[in-house]
Amino acid sequence: MIEDIAKNLHEVLDTLPEGVRLVAVSKFHPEEYIEAAYQEGQRIFGESHEQEIARKVEALPKDIEWHFIGHLQTNKVKYIAPYISMIDAVDSLKLLKEIDKQAAKHNRTIECLLELHIAEEETKYGLTLDACRQLLESGEWRQLKHVHIAGLMMMASNVDDKEQIASEFDTAWKFFDEVKAKYFADDPGFKERSWGMSHDYQIAVEHGSTMVRVGTKIFGPRVY
Ligand SMILES: *Cc1c(COP(=O)(O)O)cnc(C)c1O
Repeated sequence: MIEDIAKNLHEVLDTLPEGVRLVAVSKFHPEEYIEAAYQEGQRIFGESHEQEIARKVEALPKDIEWHFIGHLQTNKVKYIAPYISMIDAVDSLKLLKEIDKQAAKHNRTIECLLELHIAEEETKYGLTLDACRQLLESGEWRQLKHVHIAGLMMMASNVDDKEQIASEFDTAWKFFDEVKAKYFADDPGFKERSWGMSHDYQIAVEHGSTMVRVGTKIFGPRVY
């Protein structure tokens, strides 16, 4: 409920260690909900549908940083390129190239995170660690001047076993250190480890997260 948003937001913020940022995941929630969080000082919001985000961008304050957090189809990049701050789930070179192309048209550089697939669930999305190594090793991304790879993103398995979740975050953290040393040693801007959602963000911050993406815990259940 809208009356609970401020309280919920502060409950989350109060438990985040210094240096960990919050993406408030507002997908499927109305503009008033975002305004309620905005009034408490929240500025980063996460959305996952290009039409919904376009409507919200139009209606809401201009100093909001919008993150595209869900799976992004190549043919949708052009719609969000004018305003998106960060695309959190890039899982192919093809998508990275398209973001670069569309960002160039608006004379912008778009921050991107590479999405890793570590969880046990079968999903089409996310790069395996080897696929991510290959993408970075190819070096093609270095030619793309309108995207900046700012770090890695992943979702842990949707299980109750806290140790399994923690171990998946640790795998991602270790991998981050590996690629940081190998490809981004001279780029202080490669720094984000985006993991942790409503049910596991407290584990995530103990296992290397710099950026949690929390929706339900702040805004309540989504009505799809
Ligand atoms: C929806 C979504 C979230 C937020 O999930 P909650 O469980 O509501 O906190 C986080 N990350 C991604 C990629 C999402 O799609």
